[in-house]
Amino acid sequence: VEVPDEQRLVEWLDEICRDVYQRVESLDGGELASYIPELANVDPDRFAIATVTVNGESALTGDHAQLFTIQSISKLLLYGMALETHGRERVMRRAGVAPTGDPFNAIELDEKLHRAPNPMVNSGAIAITDMVEGRDLAERTDNVLSLFERYLGRRPDVDQAVCASEHASGHRNRAIGYLLLDQGIVDDRVAETLDLYFLQCSILVTAADLALIGATIANNGVHPITGDQIVGPKVARDMLTVALTCGMYDYAGEWAYTVGIPAKSGVGGGLVGMLPGVGGLAVYSPRLDEHGNSVRGIRVFEKLSRDFDLHVFDPE
Ligand code: GLN
Repeated sequence: VEVPDEQRLVEWLDEICRDVYQRVESLDGGELASYIPELANVDPDRFAIATVTVNGESALTGDHAQLFTIQSISKLLLYGMALETHGRERVMRRAGVAPTGDPFNAIELDEKLHRAPNPMVNSGAIAITDMVEGRDLAERTDNVLSLFERYLGRRPDVDQAVCASEHASGHRNRAIGYLLLDQGIVDDRVAETLDLYFLQCSILVTAADLALIGATIANNGVHPITGDQIVGPKVARDMLTVALTCGMYDYAGEWAYTVGIPAKSGVGGGLVGMLPGVGGLAVYSPRLDEHGNSVRGIRVFEKLSRDFDLHVFDPE
């Protein structure tokens, strides 16, 4: 594929996005997440594709300004923050880097190594959220929102209805939290940590926001517009690695094999991929497959990866 020079790059990206949008739009398979009741209250037909390059240029198609809850994609950002604040060694004591092949909300730990399997499934994510510093929930919430503010360029809102719904239906996550406590992986402020976890999942973002997050991580942790170094290059590398191996839950292996782009999905219907040194690509479409990944999101990535040789191991 011949990539055009800077000036024509945005037009070219725009064309590509529009084209794949049209080809994927007719897909209406999959279901809205309903295990968190409030998540079923969205328009299933919403669809957006967004790209942001490492130079901060963007191409946005469809409902790119539509807000939705970030859900599991928050796990990637909090993982970066934990690595930045506490270092690899302390983070690795809580969550390893092994893909599980099990659903994202499996109640399981790595019994031998005494930690959660990886930070991209709920057990690991809750263990990581526990590392957010602060004296109380208000201070810790502030730290999380400040992190998001650096990525998004604005302080995000929290969908209070979704957050309440997560709280009311989050028994499985509570079971995971208390298992982590029983194993001494988290400390006894686990109820507060679970509240923070529900809150981080309920943060409202757009597809354009996700693409910007992706572009930052793809740009060695440097925000393409503000120039802010949000995470160091080594932390960005770690984030990309676990995104590639664990970012798509129990579909991660197949994803790495067929699409080959470090990515993270959420049950709100968001999906963000990082093309190292190139930019971020995000899709929003809330109908999910059996793994909890956006059906159209997967299709968009499959097509683009194939048509433009975007697999990280594609031969030059
Ligand atoms: N809040 C959701 C949960 O904990 C996030 C899961 C997801 O996006 N896969 O169940």
